[in-house]
Amino acid sequence: MKIVLLGPPGSGKGTQALRLTKAHGLASLSTGDMLRAAVRAGTPVGREADATMKRGELVPDEVVVAIIGERLTQADCARGFILDGFPRTVAQALALDGMLAKAGQKLTKVIEFKVNEAALVARISGRFNCVKCDAAYHETNNRPKRDGVCDRCGGTTFTRRPDDNAQAIKVRLDAYRKQTAPLLPYYRKKGLLMAVDAMADIDKVTKEIEGALAA
Ligand code: ADP
Ligand code: ADP
Ligand code: ZN
Repeated sequence: MKIVLLGPPGSGKGTQALRLTKAHGLASLSTGDMLRAAVRAGTPVGREADATMKRGELVPDEVVVAIIGERLTQADCARGFILDGFPRTVAQALALDGMLAKAGQKLTKVIEFKVNEAALVARISGRFNCVKCDAAYHETNNRPKRDGVCDRCGGTTFTRRPDDNAQAIKVRLDAYRKQTAPLLPYYRKKGLLMAVDAMADIDKVTKEIEGALAA
């Protein structure tokens, strides 16, 4: 399976990607996680992306396309993958189609996370992430099973993302509406788009996605 998760910031893509990768043995490819790792490591890409990400704007297409292009050639992607946060522009979608076509592959499905925008701000403002693996938690909706210990990697240090503030959230939602939402008709025309109600609780969303993938 080659799946794209498409939805605004805070819609639950990362949370669901984690569950789907475990359930199906897929590779999980999050450009946000990869860029944050580059920022932490102080690589040239990271140094360039840092300020753009803090403002909530999109990093240039060629930067993320290069990162994903390299990642897709790694062995664990052969069994299938979940793209979380990529593509985010029509140019990125076209580049992805081109890379997959070269390898004789194509996407299986694109899952649209349907949300009420007003609820996103509450989700993003309550979010905190594991420093080691980037897994996302929420102060009230989604706490780690053991307080202070990451379910995914056992890490014990958590942080808030520098772009999870009111001003950057506004810019990110705007970028979603203007630059990413045009991907919905793009994938609908290809017959790949399946929508799920991303306002439901986490387990219910997982069930809905599993249903869409089986359809
Ligand atoms: P969220 O999960 O809140 O939607 P991400 O972790 O996916 O946020 O992305 C965080 C930031 O990283 C984005 O605001 C943007 O600056 C950058 N970014 C991530 N993926 C892409 C992409 N595909 N294209 C351009 N910028 C990206
Ligand atoms: P995205 O990757 O789309 O930006 P996340 O998976 O990081 O979204 O989720 C955003 C925040 O909302 C996190 O704090 C997460 O724990 C919480 N969350 C995720 N899915 C749900 C849900 N279905 N209901 C309530 N809160 C959720
Ligand atoms: Zn962790």
